Amino acid sequence: MKPPDLSDLRNIGIAAHVDAGKTTLTERILFYTGASHKIGEVHDGAAHMDYLAEERAHGITITSAVTKAPWQEHVIQLVDTPGHVDFTIEVERSMRVLDGCVVVLDGVRGVEPQTETVWRQRDRFALPALFFVNKMDRPGADFEHTLNSLRKRLHAEPAPVTVPLAEQNAVVHLIERQLLRFAGEQGEQVQTEPCDDPLWDALRPYREALYLAAAEADDELAERVMMGEEPEPHELWRGLRAATLSGRVQPCFGGSALRNLGVQPLLDAIIRLLPSPLDRPPSMAHRLDGSSESVIMEPKGPLVALAFKVQMWEGRRHVFARIYRGTLKPGDEVLVPRPGGDSIKEHVARIFDVDAGKRTRMQQAFAGQIVLLAGLRYAATGDTLCSPEAPLTLERIEAREPVLSLAIEPASADQEKKLLEVLDKLEQEDPTLQVQEDPETGQRLLRGMGELHLQILLERIQREFGLSLRSSRPAVALRVTVAGPASAEEDFARALEGEQPPKEVRARARVSVRPLERRAGVRVVVEPTVAPPGASLSALQAEAAAAGARDLLASGPVEGVPLQDLEIHVDEIELFGAASRPEALRAAVSRAVRKALLQAGERLLRPIMRTEVVVPEENLGTVLGDLQARQALIQGTETEGNTVAIRCEVALDRLLGYSTDLRSMTRGRGQFTMEFDRFDTV
Ligand code: GDP
Repeated sequence: MKPPDLSDLRNIGIAAHVDAGKTTLTERILFYTGASHKIGEVHDGAAHMDYLAEERAHGITITSAVTKAPWQEHVIQLVDTPGHVDFTIEVERSMRVLDGCVVVLDGVRGVEPQTETVWRQRDRFALPALFFVNKMDRPGADFEHTLNSLRKRLHAEPAPVTVPLAEQNAVVHLIERQLLRFAGEQGEQVQTEPCDDPLWDALRPYREALYLAAAEADDELAERVMMGEEPEPHELWRGLRAATLSGRVQPCFGGSALRNLGVQPLLDAIIRLLPSPLDRPPSMAHRLDGSSESVIMEPKGPLVALAFKVQMWEGRRHVFARIYRGTLKPGDEVLVPRPGGDSIKEHVARIFDVDAGKRTRMQQAFAGQIVLLAGLRYAATGDTLCSPEAPLTLERIEAREPVLSLAIEPASADQEKKLLEVLDKLEQEDPTLQVQEDPETGQRLLRGMGELHLQILLERIQREFGLSLRSSRPAVALRVTVAGPASAEEDFARALEGEQPPKEVRARARVSVRPLERRAGVRVVVEPTVAPPGASLSALQAEAAAAGARDLLASGPVEGVPLQDLEIHVDEIELFGAASRPEALRAAVSRAVRKALLQAGERLLRPIMRTEVVVPEENLGTVLGDLQARQALIQGTETEGNTVAIRCEVALDRLLGYSTDLRSMTRGRGQFTMEFDRFDTV
């Protein structure tokens, strides 16, 4: 089979702050490209990309569906990215497999907190981007101001391509020098006319910004622009494309999705300015020995693919994957390398091309494509799938700490088994969810990324699976570290019962613990001096000593709180011949560690959230006062028009219920986002 020509594919995501108009824009795109006819039949009346009822209830999008939208002999493949910051891992996961993105802004509000969050994520993958400044029909919308907020708050380089004239229901295309009007019931007829001189002159500042952006990498063009020359459209397209692909410039389009204004020029630009899979830089991957290799997106060479989402479909496990190199056929064996663990081999049973809710079987998939795989039992989100002959891992998507938990139980005891099945299913789909049993109380704990995350999960369990639940109030994850350094010794000696003559097991260990700086995690060093002189640890003994050093990491010495930011050092081990069985070493080290920890004293660490609150200026005093009462560390404020953005750090437990409180302090106008930063004392 011949590989498809991927130069006509644009694999993009749309990202935005909640309510900026992502859903409305997506629906317009699906409508203009004709993609909504085929899916409209299935999901009649519903937002096409939002499958789950909860998403509609909360007005947000959680799943990453893939939808194809044909435009100008190309195919725009939309990978849906979720809109709420509690699901940043999902945004990040889908960004990883995109080739470009469109960031939607509200033309009244400009850059908002989550715009910044998605921008940071985009940065990590150096994703070329376009801006769509939406809601330009609203009173107070300000294109110029939005461009400035992009420069100031995102340090972006927006290059205006279409300037909206909402009162005329038109946009001016600065590359083509045209006035575009959108006629017909849904704005589907684009009428063009030349832009007249007075208007063209009035747009000079925008044009200059555009020309300079297009000349970013072209000195000769830059010089001509400086001399006052107007470049030809083809020169502008070419220059702007290069500058966009390099990530230095972001072409910017104004309009209103709701009023059908300015969407088609954005579609044209997705084709003309954003990369095809073949235009993307090589991806970095690691061999199992730790050396690295750059993977070029081409069908030649051993398979490299990335699993980016696991979804249950008709009761079966399916894995969304992007192929970065090579090809994949049904029946192929793939290796899932797990550095530092056992790599797994498994078979891909079937491969599907996905388009909205529709799946089509494929005989072969090629580098650059995003496909759905059936038959994989173990491959999970973030795993690399590769050819067993050439083990390689793509850089893993960072997993986030689930910092909030609540205890759940079914309302009636006979639902216990069903609940376990449902939780297992949800855990497979969502790697940021953890289900755990509390060792002390035997309660089942659901751990997630934030209040909304857990709330949506509870609703899904009840609505989608028909289970009624009882749940506790959310509790915040805690860690402990040691207050200072300490060391301790343990001589572990026992007579083994039941053996004749009684056998002794014995080992002595000395260990020390000391606190490490924040975010350091846990370091365990097992390099003891061994007594008596001349003796040394066997491999099994060394392993047992290391296991003993780690015994208390998950629960700490007393309270069941995991340890964090400390070093445990095994300093010395004394062996007693055959009596020093591995079990004896493990027990001696583990007990010595417990003693040292108790002696050092503990210090509680709580999750600290990097938080941004955006409020109308008139509420600033109240909101700041309230934040101070929550012991927030205020890091700065930025005023934009009549709203103020407050950046601060707050312990998560002081933020529980904050969205409700903020709403009442600002009569619904305040917004906030938070991201886990670190565990710390406060
Ligand atoms: P999302 O949360 O980013 O997906 O935003 P939605 O597409 O759901 O839009 C949020 C709200 O803004 C809805 O009430 C939309 O009807 C409205 N909206 C979206 N686009 C526009 C626009 O261009 N102009 C105006 N005035 N309202 C819009």
